[in-house]
Amino acid sequence: MGNARIPQVPQTDNTTIRLIGARLIDGSGAGPIEDAEIVISGDRISYAGARRTTNDDSETVVDLRGKTVMPGFIDAHVHFGLNIEADVAALHAQQDTERVLDTARVINKTLMAGVTTVRDLAGTDSGYRDAIAAGTILGPRMHLAIMALSPTGGHTDYQLPNGAMALSRLRGFDPIIDTDDDVRIRVRELVRAGADAIKVCTTGGVSSPSDTPDDIGVPEHHVRLIVEEMNKRQGQPVAAHAQGTDGILQALRGGVSSIEHGYAIDAEGLQLAIDQGAFLVPTLSSALRLPSPDDVPDYLYQKKIKWSAIAREHITEALKTDVKVAMGTDSGICPHGRNLTELGHLVELGYTPLKAITAGTKNAATLLRLDKDLGTVEAGKLADLVITDFNPLDDITTLADPDNVPCVIQGGRAVKDRTGIWPSDVVLAGLANN
Ligand SMILES: [Zn+2]
Repeated sequence: MGNARIPQVPQTDNTTIRLIGARLIDGSGAGPIEDAEIVISGDRISYAGARRTTNDDSETVVDLRGKTVMPGFIDAHVHFGLNIEADVAALHAQQDTERVLDTARVINKTLMAGVTTVRDLAGTDSGYRDAIAAGTILGPRMHLAIMALSPTGGHTDYQLPNGAMALSRLRGFDPIIDTDDDVRIRVRELVRAGADAIKVCTTGGVSSPSDTPDDIGVPEHHVRLIVEEMNKRQGQPVAAHAQGTDGILQALRGGVSSIEHGYAIDAEGLQLAIDQGAFLVPTLSSALRLPSPDDVPDYLYQKKIKWSAIAREHITEALKTDVKVAMGTDSGICPHGRNLTELGHLVELGYTPLKAITAGTKNAATLLRLDKDLGTVEAGKLADLVITDFNPLDDITTLADPDNVPCVIQGGRAVKDRTGIWPSDVVLAGLANN
């Protein structure tokens, strides 16, 4: 199985920049290096480690004493096309252009929060990924699933009892799979449409009105069929929306690459995930977020309270084991642009700050099969970096506020630089620093 297609951003000039004096948390899980040196040549890192003694006057040197350098973060579970903060009535009145521009704003906000790569797990078409690659908008490198598959009446069947649609479908895509042939056809259509991952719902959900996280959605034999289809191609990861215990087991027995949410994962599920090398993406930013009872229907409030408590209990246990965890927020279901709040939640449920950072860097890159190019600050990798004025190992919750992420580098190019660290004469800054 090869490496995945690298999601692109525009290229930089082939200049060399030497960053010296920072504390380096390289994303591999290793402890920090104080007084580090990182050399960026074009869009890649050519050296990262302890500071060396060199006298090369031809390079641009940037003094980062007192600052911390980390890899650009990777959010493995977002929905750019959804926005929990948007007014539903206003959404219905929107022109297509307004919706697209709102999504572009959400994409930019996510980059400004320190997230340089995302995986969008439904609701977004490949036009956004390709616009980012072309430099039309600034945004994270992007993998996408396009839509999530479920059976009739399942998590992504938006048809209401009266036949009306609760949500409009992405143009041209039907997410319903009931038979073996449906499974093959839908998966092939998604591949044709440029999907980097396949998302399958093996359980119901908290927010869907007609099912619950304990309901089984797509069964194990259909999950296995999807994995087989993907293994005939580039082996794109298969991600399962799976919340209840039994649906988690069906997803794992079917061979998925990741359990998304995993709120009621039990000891058997954890052992299966560990044995198979599957990741858990606990999406605590949305799991632990409780709405005001005034803002949502009573059934939803009651479900949220129940499943938030289940998630807290089970994910706390999961974080004590060797199961591989990748950072994912479910942004869209929770507010966009505060993605690194997730790191604080992982620490709240038992991880060390360093393990939380690794979940958002190396582990997420490995899940996306981009670890040859992204996820750590190492020679040969793409130069996607986050630079802060403080040590996040002292208080990981500071990263949650995008104002505490003053500098974001993507492919050697500053896309956010509030402190003017980056030499603007050698590498062009991005289009916007808002
Ligand atoms: Zn989601």
